[in-house]
Amino acid sequence: MSNIRVRFAPSPTGPLHIGGLRTALYNYLFAKSRQGEFILRIEDTDQARLVPGAEQYIFQALDWLGITPDESPLHGGPYAPYRQSERVDIYRKYALQLVDEGKAYYAFDSPDELQAMRDRLKASKVANQQYNAITRVSMRNSLTLSATQVEELMAEGVPYVIRLKVPPKEDIRFEDRIRGWVKVHSSTMDDKVILKSGGFPTYHLANVVDDHLMKISHVIRGEEWLPSAPLHVLLYKFLHWEDSKPEFAHLPLILKPDGNGKLSKRDADKQGFPIYPVSWTDPEGDQSVGFKERGYLPEAMINFLALLGWNPGSERELFTLKELEREFSMDRIVKSGAKFDIGKAQWFNQHYLRNKSSGELCDYLKASLEAQGIVATPDKILQVVEFIKDRAVFPQDLWEHGKVLFLAPEQYDQKLVQKKWNHQVAEVLQNLSESIEASSEWSAEAAHSLLEEQLERVNWGFGKILPGLRLALTGEGKGPDLMKIMEIIGKQETCNRLNNAIARLANIIIDRA
Ligand code: GLU
Repeated sequence: MSNIRVRFAPSPTGPLHIGGLRTALYNYLFAKSRQGEFILRIEDTDQARLVPGAEQYIFQALDWLGITPDESPLHGGPYAPYRQSERVDIYRKYALQLVDEGKAYYAFDSPDELQAMRDRLKASKVANQQYNAITRVSMRNSLTLSATQVEELMAEGVPYVIRLKVPPKEDIRFEDRIRGWVKVHSSTMDDKVILKSGGFPTYHLANVVDDHLMKISHVIRGEEWLPSAPLHVLLYKFLHWEDSKPEFAHLPLILKPDGNGKLSKRDADKQGFPIYPVSWTDPEGDQSVGFKERGYLPEAMINFLALLGWNPGSERELFTLKELEREFSMDRIVKSGAKFDIGKAQWFNQHYLRNKSSGELCDYLKASLEAQGIVATPDKILQVVEFIKDRAVFPQDLWEHGKVLFLAPEQYDQKLVQKKWNHQVAEVLQNLSESIEASSEWSAEAAHSLLEEQLERVNWGFGKILPGLRLALTGEGKGPDLMKIMEIIGKQETCNRLNNAIARLANIIIDRA
C-alpha cells in the first residue's frame, strides 16, 4: 500500500455541483494512479447551513459515476467516524491545546462589540476591519483580561469563541502543486474563529485536524480554498504537524462557456444545461434536472470532467475511467481556468452511446416504448436502434428520432403542408400507395424502385416528391432515410400512412383553393 491518501471533503450545504464532482474525480484518479486511498469525509460542522438530503445526494452522485470511496461514513474505515459532526470532541481538544500553548485565545466579544470595533475602524478609514494582531489588544479576550476575569465570565456562562492568534509579522509560504509557491504576509490575515460558541469547530480547524489524523497526503480541492490555505499552514505549524503536513493542489476554476468568470447555476439555467450530476429537489420543492436524467452517461461525464482542467499531454481525448486511473497525473493539471463547453460533453456522450452494445441500446428504447404503452417485437426494436443510433446523442434520442417508426403522424407540419402539399403530390402518392399495395416483395430498395416508377410517369425528380412523402409518412420535414422508414414500418403501414395523409390533407387543399 502506498502512503497516498486523499480526501474529498464536501459540506452538505446543498447539492454537489459539477465543480465538486470534478474535485472528487481528480482526488479519486490521483489516488488510483498512485495505488492510494480515496476518502470521503463529510464536513458538516456548519450546522446552520446543513440542507436535508444533501449528504445522501453526495453519495448518490459519486455512485452514479462509479467513484467509490475506500473510506467514508458509509464504507467505514480505520479513521472513522468520517462525519465531522461526530468528531466534535476531537476538535475541542486541539483548540484547547492551542489556547494552552498561547497560539489561540478565548474571545468574549458580543456581536455588538464586534460591530462597534468595525465601525470604529471604518471611521478611521482602515480598509480591513479585522479582528487581528492590532485590534485584538483592545477587545474582550483572554489576552486582555486577567485569568480570573476569564474564569468569571466562563462561570457566568458568557458565550465565547476561540480565535487563532495569528502572528503579526510573518511570511507564510507553501508550495502548491499546481500554482507553485504561494506567499502571504500574516498581517493580511485575521484571527479566525476556530471554535464557535456552541463548541463546534469552524471549517478551518476541523479540516486541518482531520487531514492530519486521517493521514491525508495531498489536499486536492477547488481554487476557492486557496485563500484559506495560509491559515491551514499556520495551523499545521501551531499544532506541531508541520513536517507531516499534506501537499496542496488547488484546482483551476471551471469558467462560464465564454470564459468570463466562474460557471454558475444561473449560467447553466440560462443556457439550458444541467449543473448538478443527478436531479435535485431543494427543500422549497424547486427541481433541477441533473446530467444523469438529461441522458448523460457516466462514462461521458467522467471523460468530460477529466479533461476539464487536465490534459494527457497528447491529442488523445477518449479515456475510460480505468484508463484515467492509470494515466492521470497531477503535473498535467492546468493552471488557468477551464471553460465549460456543453457541446463537448454532448460529443463525449454521443461517442459513448454509439459504443454501447445493440442490446443496451435496445433496452433504452424498450424502456421508452413501455413508458408510451407501445408493444413492439424485439426484431423491430433492433432494426430501429441500428437505423437511428448514429443520430442519437442521448439514450432518449432513440425514442425521439425513432418514434415515427412506431407511431403514425397525428398531425402534419402546417407550414410544410402549405409549401409542399398539392394535388399533384397527392396523386403521385396515391399511385405509389396503390403500387405498393400490389407489390409482392418489400424492402427499402423495393420502395425506391416503386417510387422511381411513379416519378418517371410524371417526369419528376426525387426532390419534388420527397418532402411530401416525408410529410405523409412522418408529419415532419426532417428525419432519417425515407426508404428505410418505409421498410421498417412495413408495407401495410406505409400504405395506411399515405392513404391517411391523402385523405386528411385533401380538405386543406380544398380550403386553400
Ligand atoms: N468542506 C469544504 C468544502 O465544502 C472542503 C474544502 C477542502 O477540501 O478543504 O468544499
